[in-house]
Amino acid sequence: MTTLLPVAAAARVRRAAWQEIRSDRALFSAAMVANILAAGAGLLIPLLLGRIVDAVTGTPGRAVLAAVDRLAVAILVVTVVQIVLLRYAQLLCYRFGERTAARIRERFLDRTLALPGALVEHATTGDLITRGTADVNAVAIMLRGMAPQLFLAAVQVVFLIVAVLLLDPMLGGFGLGALVIAVVALGAYLRRAEAAYLRQATVAGQVNEVVTTTAQGARTVEAFGMARLRIQAADSAITESRQARLSTLWLRTRLFPVVEIACALPVVGVLLLGGWLHRNDMISLGAVVAAALYLQRLIDPLNLFMMWLDQIQSATAAFARIEGIAAAGGPRVEPDPAVIVEPADDRIVCADVHFAYENGRDVLHGVDLDIRPGERLAIVGPSGAGKSTLGRLLAGIEAPDRGSITIGGVPIAGLAPDRLRRQIILITQEHHVFRDTLRENLRLAAPTATDAELAAALAAVGASWAAELPDGPDTVLDGRHRLDDAQAQQLSLARVVLADPHTLILDEATAMLDPTTARDTERSLAAILSGRTVIAIAHRLQTAHDADRIAVMENGRIAELGTHTELLTRDGSYAALWRTWHG
Ligand code: ADP
Repeated sequence: MTTLLPVAAAARVRRAAWQEIRSDRALFSAAMVANILAAGAGLLIPLLLGRIVDAVTGTPGRAVLAAVDRLAVAILVVTVVQIVLLRYAQLLCYRFGERTAARIRERFLDRTLALPGALVEHATTGDLITRGTADVNAVAIMLRGMAPQLFLAAVQVVFLIVAVLLLDPMLGGFGLGALVIAVVALGAYLRRAEAAYLRQATVAGQVNEVVTTTAQGARTVEAFGMARLRIQAADSAITESRQARLSTLWLRTRLFPVVEIACALPVVGVLLLGGWLHRNDMISLGAVVAAALYLQRLIDPLNLFMMWLDQIQSATAAFARIEGIAAAGGPRVEPDPAVIVEPADDRIVCADVHFAYENGRDVLHGVDLDIRPGERLAIVGPSGAGKSTLGRLLAGIEAPDRGSITIGGVPIAGLAPDRLRRQIILITQEHHVFRDTLRENLRLAAPTATDAELAAALAAVGASWAAELPDGPDTVLDGRHRLDDAQAQQLSLARVVLADPHTLILDEATAMLDPTTARDTERSLAAILSGRTVIAIAHRLQTAHDADRIAVMENGRIAELGTHTELLTRDGSYAALWRTWHG
């Protein structure tokens, strides 16, 4: 069963954005000051142009020429100062954007790695991949490219509005009144846009999910002739994604013309009203020109805002999805070292364990099991009885809904991953080789292990190939030194040796490899099983026969428990299975 990871609520997104600004306060403040100075310098130019108009409309003469020259030089100086300030403001903004983007990326990785294993398993791969790639990129692009320009635009708009009102309140008020139309249109747009953009990002994740899982399971898809079904699934995800994109496009299509007209109206209005006022000697021509120029200058920043609106919405939705990862993990509570209780011994006890998968019916209905240190316990039973589920609970991947599973008296659910790993490990077929050195690949399991300990672990699982690697433990396991399946399995078994848990859970259905590599692996596996408690989820009765005790699971309960001979004598389900197998 898969679920989507949560999306952060608006309040949390705002808090997180504010946190970003606060963590680079000095740089952000410097960028703000530089932007404000640049926008302030820009305000002087229309004012100076207005003065020139007033000067030339006065009595002609030498004094007028000198005044115009002086004003022209002043405009030149102000323009140069503004360009320098702008450049500097942009530089500071870019720096802030890059640093913040880097922080978001790093935090995303940390949070994702810290997510509870069960949650990652239930989450769809596409959703997590989209958040880690497209979403993080959308935010980074916004911070790097848009934020600096938008910030300047916002400062300019505020300054221009104040300037035009100061110049002539009536003229300014009339012009700005027209802008109200643009603001209302924008408000209506924003109300609908948030949900539309969030949906756009979610369905993009679904497309990713369908494509990734189809590619990952390509062999299965081929083997079962499911190609058409998968194409249909991809088609419907793409159709949905197209519809989501069309709906945001439709929102923008309606918004843009309204805003364009609303931006042009104030200039026209000011020129008409200003002309009338000037003819009646109520205002100087220079003031009309300056007011028209200010309002004209509003168009550029507003247009810029419109142009980027799409990306701002996408980036905000992306940021909400990235922050959702934090909500998914829940608050990280570091245990108080004073109250950490170490398991008293290696005994594992399940008491009245109940468990249901999310939105599902109960899979385990009161499992009681007492596993003795050092024993080999085989769990058998029909498919769907709950064997693998019990294995996942014993390994701490899932937690019981009711009842308890303890190791040496300490509940498994309360053990932090690094402590749990030293107690019990579930061995599956999933083995990952990281593109890193052999040493780092192994040290995942034991961060402080020496090279000698690593070599011993490799030798214990029969990984003789490791000694032949050109750079020893420093060899990077990538394209040039790619491990084959058996070697990769041995690497992960060496990790188990390094983690050195007292108990191993072996799910035969998932631990076994294809027949070509099974023999090598079984030898390595046998080496690591000795001296540990082994719980084998047995799909082959031979495994059960060789075990110290056998637990028969039926319908989420332990139906029988005993040695091979005891169970045969009892003549119940196990005896029946055994007879069928031998029959
Ligand atoms: P077994 O290992 O004995 O074959 P499982 O533990 O795999 O049994 O499954 C027990 C029941 O739980 C089955 O009905 C199965 O469909 C269900 N189940 C298993 N895994 C999941 C899962 N990830 N999400 C929801 N249901 C599951």
